[in-house]
Amino acid sequence: MLKDLFNKKKNYGTVKKINIESDIKPNIPSGMWTKCDGCHSIIYHEDLVKNKYVCTNCNHHFRLKAHDRVKLFFDDNSFEEFDKDLSTRNPLDFEGYQKKLEDAKKRTKSREAVVTGTGLVNGIRVCAGIMDSFFMMGSMGTVVGEKLTRMIEFAIKHKLPVIIFTTSGGARMQEGIFSLMQMAKVSAALAKHSEEGLLYITVLTDPTTGGITASFAMEGDVILSEPNALIGFAGRRVIENTIKETLPDDFQKAEFLLDKGFVDKIVNREELRTCVYKILRLHEVNRYE
Ligand SMILES: [Zn+2]
Repeated sequence: MLKDLFNKKKNYGTVKKINIESDIKPNIPSGMWTKCDGCHSIIYHEDLVKNKYVCTNCNHHFRLKAHDRVKLFFDDNSFEEFDKDLSTRNPLDFEGYQKKLEDAKKRTKSREAVVTGTGLVNGIRVCAGIMDSFFMMGSMGTVVGEKLTRMIEFAIKHKLPVIIFTTSGGARMQEGIFSLMQMAKVSAALAKHSEEGLLYITVLTDPTTGGITASFAMEGDVILSEPNALIGFAGRRVIENTIKETLPDDFQKAEFLLDKGFVDKIVNREELRTCVYKILRLHEVNRYE
């Protein structure tokens, strides 16, 4: 019987298990090379830094820490930071929150998920808020809201334009309703800024989601975005389950939002400074004397 032919065979050939860690992994000092999330190519880290953290192969824009963005965007040594030492008091006594904050502080060398201040763009003074997705996913708690509001109030007082670079997972759940309040607080400050006839530009970066998208990210007079940034309110799965429909592949990508009129222009990081400078000049914001 044909069946017996197979049943007789009891021993199978074996293959020696390879220890991946020691046998295959090349011995490269850590930090020299970075893998691109877009095209999976391996990029020499120095080249990546030179190219403003944009993949030289596929134009994938890596996420930036707030302080790196400050260095890349503003005129050399022109940025003066506001409220550097402001940090949260854990208003709900949320368990484990303090530990998470400490870890994030060590990792980013920031005390919160936003850096605010004033700096020069090609000689023009602006006020700015730069969010940091490396700090608790850029979530917005009381301090993020307070720092942004103070920065906008400074801009109103000194008649300066405001630029906010957004990146966030949304409101910070550890601060509950206090966190949600910040959406209204920042928006109210921006409304006053607008009543004064002052310019507000937002630069959406990957990812901009949740309460940030539902408030100040979408309130810019001009809304710019970096290429291929994820921009949305609720996640894809939540929406698909709610409306019982499959969403297009590029749904919630910057290019999709540009097509639908939510974003005014997609700008490569390399051209961002020049683009913002042109918008400032177009709105007759003068060079700082
Ligand atoms: Zn790439």
